[in-house]
Amino acid sequence: MMSRFPLPDIPVNWYYIPMPRLDTARQVLSTVFGHREFRPLQEEVIGSVLAGKDTVAIMPTGGGKSLCYQVPALLFDGLTVVVSPLIALMQDQVSALERLGIDAVFLNSSLDRESWRAAASRVSSGSVRLLYVAPESLAGERVLELLDACTVSCLTIDEAHCISDWGHDFRPEYRSLSAFRSRFSPAVTLALTATATAQVRSDIVASLKLHKPVIFVSSFNRPNIYLSVSAKTKPVHQVLEFLAERPGQAGIIYCFSRKQVDDLVNELTVRKFSAVPYHAGLKDDVRMQNQEAFLDGSVDIVVATVAFGMGINKSDVRFVIHFDLPKSLEQYYQEIGRAGRDGKAATALLLYSYGDTRKIAFFLEEKSERESKKAVIHLKAMTDYASARSCRRNLLLSWFGETLQPVSPVDTLLPCCDICTRGAVDEVDVTIPAQKFMSCIVRTGERYGTGYIADILLGSRQERIVGNGHHKLSTWGIGRDLSREDWFSLCALLVDAGYIRKTGEYGVLVLTRDGRDALSAREVIALPFEKSAEPPISRARPRSLPKRKVRRKKEL
Ligand code: ADP
Ligand code: MG
Repeated sequence: MMSRFPLPDIPVNWYYIPMPRLDTARQVLSTVFGHREFRPLQEEVIGSVLAGKDTVAIMPTGGGKSLCYQVPALLFDGLTVVVSPLIALMQDQVSALERLGIDAVFLNSSLDRESWRAAASRVSSGSVRLLYVAPESLAGERVLELLDACTVSCLTIDEAHCISDWGHDFRPEYRSLSAFRSRFSPAVTLALTATATAQVRSDIVASLKLHKPVIFVSSFNRPNIYLSVSAKTKPVHQVLEFLAERPGQAGIIYCFSRKQVDDLVNELTVRKFSAVPYHAGLKDDVRMQNQEAFLDGSVDIVVATVAFGMGINKSDVRFVIHFDLPKSLEQYYQEIGRAGRDGKAATALLLYSYGDTRKIAFFLEEKSERESKKAVIHLKAMTDYASARSCRRNLLLSWFGETLQPVSPVDTLLPCCDICTRGAVDEVDVTIPAQKFMSCIVRTGERYGTGYIADILLGSRQERIVGNGHHKLSTWGIGRDLSREDWFSLCALLVDAGYIRKTGEYGVLVLTRDGRDALSAREVIALPFEKSAEPPISRARPRSLPKRKVRRKKEL
């Protein structure tokens, strides 16, 4: 069901890691960092880097990517340069390393002239093991000249998905990193990210011009995060209900706009929930203060735009609510990944309405053609997830090229997703609505997608429909007993059941032979269809219609 990128063919090379160096790496892990064991893939990635192989490691948020370059940095003779997109993060990382007695510095635009010089001279003296820089610094000569005089052993690119405009966080400055790589070519390159679809992965390899890189991909499954989606009907009320069941728990609520953030914080504060806002419209000090308050546990809830969260390391976040639809599954995965880092049960709740899809689609229209084409694919994947009828975890993981492994005994104790928990929905007789839907497809010549067919059934007078004369069809307006969302779910079920096929880039609907037979023989069609709880949403109907005509019928 989900549209997928063509999978690029990236070789994954395995090779033997020289053992003595790994022994030393283990020692460093315990004596310097105080950890007893490596986390999954850390050892493999470190071994690969120490063996001088260019390496790409895709590990989930909280998986422990930093150690993958911090341990080798202490074993290499020369300097490890770490490219990181966020200035605030660099500061944190450097302070944490200094506390462990590791000599690390950062160079970025936040430093005044004096501090910059002081940091630079420490780098030249050769004592520094790790140097954090912003990608734009590597485009200027100042840092490059400083590094020319040093031995660079390793170039680490953190948040490497920023290199790809297929990713959710494209930073054009990341594109210039391959020039840096060739200037310091003996250095081994390590690219790290938490989210990389096959397309982004191949972009990372291509943009950095990595030669036969070793690619490690750890499982994306976070079994302790329960995945759920609710139809967004009364969102504020839904959030309040959710929170009422979780007093005092730490959580993040993501909203689409700054205004929505502020409004929701007001709603929550009035009801005595401990919540603060976080978005780019707030003054820097307020934003930092709010973030700190959330991190140190003095407030429970942060209501935020996408601006919040990269590199946030708080282990006991118990829930992430999406008040509005994210633009892509990558973004969604990244954001819900901030929950349950301590391994204990956590919940991800997405409030979904088709209106949100349309809102995002509307913003996409302003993008260039290439950009918007990608964005549409991402949005569609997100919408497919939100309106899924089968296991959401499966869908999410398959987007990242992973098939869900058979459940382990531990996993079976954890609820998977709302669909798996709810169990199979009972089949109901949907013969009448299925006939309406399929005959509308036939009457419009099998040339349109789900939205258009649904709009005809709902009696829309939008320009395109009237222009095509489709407001005169006998199927026009005969489907107002269901909401637009309902028509979309019914369509998905009809596709699943093999009555309808979606074709081409635009998802044009055509009937299959079974569909035709069912329609002409007036076969009974039973499917696990569930009508959304709320009455059809009024915006789906033309405003000019008198109320009486659009009143919802009780029966299906
Ligand atoms: P990522 O960058 O992958 O999101 P981090 O590198 O920030 O994750 O690590 C997340 C947390 O896990 C940090 O608090 C770190 O100290 C901890 N951590 C990393 N590796 C280990 C390990 N081998 N054992 C115990 N804790 C670890
Ligand atoms: Mg990290």
